Amino acid sequence: MTEIDIHADGVEMVKSLCYFCHANCGVLAYVKDGDVIKIEGDPDYSNHGGLCCRGTSALLHVNHPARINHALKRVGEKGEGKWEQIPYDQAIQEVAEKLNQIKAESGAEAVATAGGTTRTDDWARRRFLNQFGSPNGFHNALLCWIPTFMAETCVAGWSPFETDLGGAKCLILWGMNPGASTLGGMDGYTDLQKAGLKIIVVDPRYSETASKADLWVPLRPGSDAALALAMLHTIIYEGMYDFNFVNEWCDGFDELREHVKDYTPEWAAPITWLKPEQIREVARMYAMNRPGCIQWGCTWDQIGRASTTGSHAIALIRAVCGNLDVPGGDGMPGPSLGFLTDEEMEANECLPEEQKAKQIGSNKFKLTSWPGYQLISDNAKRTWGKTLPTEWFCEAHGPSVFKAIITGDPYPVRALIVNATNPVNSYGDAKMTLQALKQCEFLVTVDYWMTPAALFSDYVFPAAGALERPTIVTHYGATDSFMGGRRAIQPKYDRHTDMTFWRKLGLACGQDPEMWPWETEEEAYYHILKPLGLSISCYNDFVDYYRMYYPPLHQNKFITNGGFWTPSGKVECNSSILRQLGYSGMPTYIGCIENEIDTPEIAEEYPIVLTTGGGFMPYHHSEHFQMEGIRFLYPDPYFSINPELAEKLKIEYGDWCWIETRRGRIKMRANVEPEVHPNVVFAPRGWWFPERDGSADLDNPFGCLESNVNVLTSVDDWDCDPMGGSWANRGLMCKVYKCGEFDKEYKPSDTQFSIPGSSKEPGVTVMPSDQHLAREPIPFEVPQPPEEVPEGYEWVWQSGNLYTKDTHFRLDESGWLINPRTKGYHDAYTGWRYDAANECLVDDETGKMYTMDREEIPFVAGIRCYPGSEAAPYEVPEQLTWDVAKGHAVLGDLAFVYDPNSGWLIDPETGAFHDAYYGYTYDAERACLVDEASGRCFDMGYNELVAEEPEPASEEAAPEGAAAAEEGE
Ligand code: SF4
Repeated sequence: MTEIDIHADGVEMVKSLCYFCHANCGVLAYVKDGDVIKIEGDPDYSNHGGLCCRGTSALLHVNHPARINHALKRVGEKGEGKWEQIPYDQAIQEVAEKLNQIKAESGAEAVATAGGTTRTDDWARRRFLNQFGSPNGFHNALLCWIPTFMAETCVAGWSPFETDLGGAKCLILWGMNPGASTLGGMDGYTDLQKAGLKIIVVDPRYSETASKADLWVPLRPGSDAALALAMLHTIIYEGMYDFNFVNEWCDGFDELREHVKDYTPEWAAPITWLKPEQIREVARMYAMNRPGCIQWGCTWDQIGRASTTGSHAIALIRAVCGNLDVPGGDGMPGPSLGFLTDEEMEANECLPEEQKAKQIGSNKFKLTSWPGYQLISDNAKRTWGKTLPTEWFCEAHGPSVFKAIITGDPYPVRALIVNATNPVNSYGDAKMTLQALKQCEFLVTVDYWMTPAALFSDYVFPAAGALERPTIVTHYGATDSFMGGRRAIQPKYDRHTDMTFWRKLGLACGQDPEMWPWETEEEAYYHILKPLGLSISCYNDFVDYYRMYYPPLHQNKFITNGGFWTPSGKVECNSSILRQLGYSGMPTYIGCIENEIDTPEIAEEYPIVLTTGGGFMPYHHSEHFQMEGIRFLYPDPYFSINPELAEKLKIEYGDWCWIETRRGRIKMRANVEPEVHPNVVFAPRGWWFPERDGSADLDNPFGCLESNVNVLTSVDDWDCDPMGGSWANRGLMCKVYKCGEFDKEYKPSDTQFSIPGSSKEPGVTVMPSDQHLAREPIPFEVPQPPEEVPEGYEWVWQSGNLYTKDTHFRLDESGWLINPRTKGYHDAYTGWRYDAANECLVDDETGKMYTMDREEIPFVAGIRCYPGSEAAPYEVPEQLTWDVAKGHAVLGDLAFVYDPNSGWLIDPETGAFHDAYYGYTYDAERACLVDEASGRCFDMGYNELVAEEPEPASEEAAPEGAAAAEEGE
């Protein structure tokens, strides 16, 4: 192995960030001659110098021979794998022409884009889409936090996703396994546990984290909603909630108490496979050890139709225990009020209302698309003056877009840009997704590698990777902290970053260059950071000198700001936003899509519970399967099965087995281990085989269907969460059997589309677009305002307040408008700010000041004047007189203006300073006063300064050459 000397001449150390999962660990990259020669974890970052096996593979990644390095144009049939390498800008131009043609023929909404997991710069994609006019951008976000975030925001005004563990007495880790997935996280938890923190782990598996818990809650996969509702019942009916907090800050608590009356531990026991006493124990441990935290786990968002009702109930558990926004509880940061938010970079104002209404899925899954986002966003603007990004929090429903490509319902989607995602592996109903990619009229992919999506594309663009781009981390644009890393090297070959791709495509489509003023990410990020007022002159300065920005921790904001950030200003136990959208305002139990109680006929044929969707090292989603350097750690797909069940099914460790649901079957090898329940199997996500020739089998390119758990999941509308739209990954019913000698090869009939009730007849089940809701809406009429709403205002029924439509300022009882951001007062007629110090109004746009009668205040030489005022509003020195006409003090007949703040007279012509006794001019260079009439100078105490006579110069002392000069030489 070659020794690398990082101290050698010409080696530069660059502070970068890892880009292989959204932990974005700190990386130090050592660069020589434009190449990275070594990386290591940054010891001064949250990863404390550690990097996982993915992070340490960054050098293999940047130079991997399978990377796509140039723009490719399809020249053969779709999927044939025949490409022409063309210049990047030419490819951009050709793609732009085709997109504009589709827009002209079918409307901008016929162009959609699919994105991957959050890393950075998603605002750039939305900026492109908004200007193009399409509402149809989407990610896999509905399986990861977004529905939870929106439900929590309906309850309390923002997601309480920041824990303050130092002051907490209890922590619930629900559906997460930091012991296996988070660098450094588990260390911190167990250290705090030694100091008294109680840790509860809710997980069907006896995971690494569960093994450290004070209380392990092994619930049936997919029964989280039942457990949460029964905990809520227990906390309320055993009187363990926070009485004072509920009395003062919760609205609708009595309705909630009545609503959860029947959700007893006895009711939940058969659903959750827990004993009633276990449910009571977990409820008591959390409620009686206050303050406490509940950490979100992505399980909450992966149960399909039972997802959001569970996260809604968990949000209420937190709320009634008073664990919101308090020391030791769950923190609610709100949007950044310092640096620019992602939303401020998205140009959402460019998307017309009629285009918003066309967002696919927004008529079915309203909470996470324009209808819900608009209500939540308007409220956030009235509260903070800023809001959430539309990326992630307001998206088209991905599976519905894929269905629209196939069926043309609700309208044809003709073009899809796949940016940094591998949809066949990451979206539910993999075969339907693959069919959509094959069938898409115009498909474009931006990626590192040749994926199934890239294989069927018309153009493929190479993406710049981890070390080739700067990175910022703002947690989906939903928090007020900021972390940054520099690019270590410029992108190699013809690779470009996401922002460059969207910017170039936008400009080629004819978008206004002024809307894309930043040529590089560094320029854009500097623009984002500028409002912080840090002493930096570029983005790289920020990384070098600051690296991260955390505003001071603000807790108990709801007390100092006079309420929570909901429309009513209270924690809403019966959410007004959900009711307005036609949903129940309180969490109502719904079972996961297949289970022994609600669907016994399915359980009879498929008796084993299947849970999918978990991640595992060394992969992240479907990434890194190409990397031989880490693939050897986990070369084949393995599922977990309990020894008891394995013995019953005559399965041994390592056997290839079929796992089958009503939607198809996949092959995995058995990992026989006792950590799973005897009637549960656990199958990890993401598997494909990029080492195979993709074009060799277009029914299963790169083996993308044969071990892919998304063949087993469902995206049928009826199986999706009615509020958030997430689809069903967990709590499914399956059967498991060993691959037979004559039944071990993948066949196209092994995978089916989502068809409840049959796996024998392929087809696409789509809810017709005229059946708008996946569930019956609850009739609800928005109350009407008691009086006529003045023009330019809107009435918010939940709080009974009027707000300005454009600025979202609240009309106060006093008749003034309140700015949500500064809490300052503004004039209700003009919007001008009240300046208490100067007792005047200020127009912040022009900087002009006005009297309280809205008359412009005159200034002379920058000094406020009061023409017509008989008496001076400030003390006037006795040698000066008050000039009523001019409105300022004067010295004799001099034309100077007296400045009461500095005590000087100012010459309005020249701006020069003059003393207020004699009118002498202040000479700043000599720091003295000059009487212009006589030329005499005085010090600041009016003592005359007499110039010293210069000594006569002797001939010897004369400077060299002086005598010669005198002689005229
Ligand atoms: S891939 Fe590993 S090193 Fe990179 S950010 Fe994620 S946890 Fe950190």
